[in-house]
Amino acid sequence: MGTPIPYHFEPMTLTSRDIHDALRTVRDPDIGKDLVTLNMVKDVRIEAAQVTIGIELTTPACPMKETIRKDIEQAIRAKAAEVGASSPSIAIEFTARVRVAASKSASNPLPNVKHVIAVGAGKGGVGKSTVAVNLAVGLARFGARVGLLDGDIYGPSAPTMLGLAELQGGIRGEMLLPFEVHGIRAITIGKLVDPEKALIWRGPMAHGAFKQLALQTEWGDLDYLIVDLPPGTGDVPLTLAQLIPLTGAVVVCTPQRVAEDDARRAVRMFQQLGVAVLGVVENMSYFIGDDGKSYDIFGRGGAERMAATMGLPFLGAVPIHMELRRNSDEGTPLKNWAGNPTLASDLDGLCQRVASQISIATIAGGLLQPTLSMTD
Ligand code: ADP
Repeated sequence: MGTPIPYHFEPMTLTSRDIHDALRTVRDPDIGKDLVTLNMVKDVRIEAAQVTIGIELTTPACPMKETIRKDIEQAIRAKAAEVGASSPSIAIEFTARVRVAASKSASNPLPNVKHVIAVGAGKGGVGKSTVAVNLAVGLARFGARVGLLDGDIYGPSAPTMLGLAELQGGIRGEMLLPFEVHGIRAITIGKLVDPEKALIWRGPMAHGAFKQLALQTEWGDLDYLIVDLPPGTGDVPLTLAQLIPLTGAVVVCTPQRVAEDDARRAVRMFQQLGVAVLGVVENMSYFIGDDGKSYDIFGRGGAERMAATMGLPFLGAVPIHMELRRNSDEGTPLKNWAGNPTLASDLDGLCQRVASQISIATIAGGLLQPTLSMTD
């Protein structure tokens, strides 16, 4: 009897094709298409029992990152079981690139701004500027490049809410330089005219002032430009819609019935202007007292119901937080993420839902096909 030939069993490893097949079964839950079709798979490396996958999200504020991670792991394990390979250890590396709709026209007056988002409200005092400022600062905290255009030319809030009092605006040639504060770039009429003077604009002047702020600011490259509009349905939203292609509008509303009617009008206005409404935010949704109890002051859920009846996404509820008011008055928006974890997570949730609606609108507006690199 000769010595037996040692039998060495090499378990099968997954191939790059196996990984791609697995990734084709994983959908971005918001967008509803698979990762390969969405061109989100940027890298697949297989080294022995280790698989490394690079996924490019459509926004750094993607709320679905952990779901996508789990779904990928599950799909790869299922594939390994199917082909009889040993289950690899999986590393997923996330990056993000905000995409531009394929339909974005070349004649866009702000070619370096990927998305212009209007923030509107049916009437004043509902927290439209608060939402606009915190949306801008919050998206920047996630890593996006963000600008804030304080387009409320009748009652600019940015000088106070961003703490611009001591800062001097700059000019380069004919262009205004935005204030670089709290991680964003911001411009406001409030720093260009005497703040003590009531800002009364006739129609054409309002148009001119807004146009100048929007187009004569050196924004540089931006993922998102958030535009805080004056309340109601006046000239400025019309000017904006005519001037720049908008990705969409966010409507801010408080929960009471009387506020709802105004918000509906704001929604209808955007729709008549051909601007997609990305969704509704319920501000001052409820109040949490020092005793930790939640007080339903204005009828929590009113704006959410309104959004549902109008077939619009609900973007989230922001309760009445004393810190939010204080930090707005003191011009220190970043403190909203530093003190109260509930406030921080409410604001992050809002930013993530807005960012994901922007991604959904972008992909729905036409998927940019992956570019083929030609090598021989
Ligand atoms: P609008 O832009 O709709 O006129 P603002 O954003 O200026 O409203 O808000 C009006 C006032 O209410 C401001 O003093 C702001 O700090 C405060 N405020 C807005 N939202 C909240 C909130 N969720 N909690 C506490 N204060 C708020």
